[in-house]
Amino acid sequence: MGLFSKIKNMFKSYKEDEQEEIKQEESSEEEIEAKEEEIKEEIQVPEEVESEVEIISDEPAFGDEEPEEKEVNIPKDEEIEKVELEEDTEPIKEEKPEVKKEEPVKKEKRGFFHKKDKKEEERKSVKVYEKGLSKSREGFVSKLANLTNKYKKVTDEYFEELEEILIMADIGVNTVMDFMDRLRDRVKKENITDPSELKEIIVDELFIIYVNDEVLSNKINFNENGPTVILFIGVNGVGKTTTIAKLAHKFIDDGKKVLLVGADTFRAGAVEQLKEWAQRVNAGFYGKEESDPASVVYDGIELAKKEKYDVVLVDTAGRLQNKVNLMKELEKINKVIEGLIDGGCSETLLVIDATTGQNGVSQAKAFKEISNITGIVLTKLDGTAKGGIVLAIKEEVGIPVKYIGLGETKDDLQVFDIEKYIYGLFKDMM
Ligand code: GDP
Ligand code: MG
Repeated sequence: MGLFSKIKNMFKSYKEDEQEEIKQEESSEEEIEAKEEEIKEEIQVPEEVESEVEIISDEPAFGDEEPEEKEVNIPKDEEIEKVELEEDTEPIKEEKPEVKKEEPVKKEKRGFFHKKDKKEEERKSVKVYEKGLSKSREGFVSKLANLTNKYKKVTDEYFEELEEILIMADIGVNTVMDFMDRLRDRVKKENITDPSELKEIIVDELFIIYVNDEVLSNKINFNENGPTVILFIGVNGVGKTTTIAKLAHKFIDDGKKVLLVGADTFRAGAVEQLKEWAQRVNAGFYGKEESDPASVVYDGIELAKKEKYDVVLVDTAGRLQNKVNLMKELEKINKVIEGLIDGGCSETLLVIDATTGQNGVSQAKAFKEISNITGIVLTKLDGTAKGGIVLAIKEEVGIPVKYIGLGETKDDLQVFDIEKYIYGLFKDMM
């Protein structure tokens, strides 16, 4: 039972962290609140001034209000929190001594967080999982817990109900069948009669389904000699453009120079949408509506090479209804990339919307036939109570989920981590 105890230890350490955090928060809450009030008061003055200025300047000219707005927005409560956390992840910031002086709260909190940078980051990520999986947890896991309470003994009815719950969670019929067989086997072999004992084995077996003796790679392959090109494919509306923006934000945070290339040239507004995101996350942009996608990719990569970009994220159109055309188009794009970059495209990520359930699994199978997918991004996991789709994709499609989308903000894209995922799903059951 090695796996289960590993996860259980994780639970324990997160719970301890949570408790510690609550204590810390309680003791410093009042202090921080007072200081935040102070800051708010200070900042409110320029905010009013700014908005007046804006109203006046809006009339003669327009189009440049964005950057000003951003600055005004910073003082909001949430933003203060975010700014602090972001600051904390950068160990040394010598250029900004003045800013530090002006913001006493940051200085106070820095000391405490500084020691725990890594831990803090990890915990932030765990929180995104917890929050993003809350619907699934409430749906699927609360049903599991009820089941355990309902039955005093493991019976055939128990197994039937369990099977139904798992299928409802979008785990996929074949996966569930395998899982049930394994579970029945273990119940027999280990002579288990108590449903609460089975709870642990369920978690354990779900984990095994996913890991399945393979070394799963959720790492992105980076091209050492030149820009790393990542192609995004998937049907309309699954979250390609948003995912690209989120990933760009992640890479830029890591100090990389990122170019977004809008090769979804058919849908009106799609290129423009990517351009807006590029501005928001401070990435470079290249795109052209109503042109040949492959030629846009060509020009984009030329630009990336010339201006020494580290990463190029390519947005494509996903018209799966015409498989042959889509395949030809992707082949053409890939040829262009191969012509410009040794080794070609580093990754082809298929984006799937988790709320579409088994339909998403079918999409993955269809795309797999026509392209060389290296990883899956599963978006909108926060919007479904059927978080089991992660397991179905792995089992039925055989491609690793590299990232998951757990919300709509730029911080809600997470590297897929099976341990955090299982923790996010089952934390209330432990
Ligand atoms: P595309 O057509 O594939 O490029 O899809 P878009 O990137 O335009 O996204 C479609 C919609 O899905 C947008 O409203 C996004 O905000 C939303 N979306 C994308 N990813 C997520 C996610 O992880 N969680 C939630 N809740 N919404 C998402
Ligand atoms: Mg799009």
